[in-house]
Amino acid sequence: MKCPYCGSGHAEGALACAACGRDIAVPATLIAERDDLLRKREELRDELRRARDQVDAIRLRRKSR
Ligand SMILES: [Zn+2]
Repeated sequence: MKCPYCGSGHAEGALACAACGRDIAVPATLIAERDDLLRKREELRDELRRARDQVDAIRLRRKSR
């Protein structure tokens, strides 16, 4: 097995890479999935921020009427 981060070999079933110290107990597919979810979360945060801005803009427009 190879560390997905630094590429150095390590023992089968090792929980952390001896070379870089990163957690390698989690399969690379799950790490990729987590990164994907984190990216989606950021996208949703941006979307939420934009929606809030729009709501604020609408409220301000109503107030000024
Ligand atoms: Zn490593």
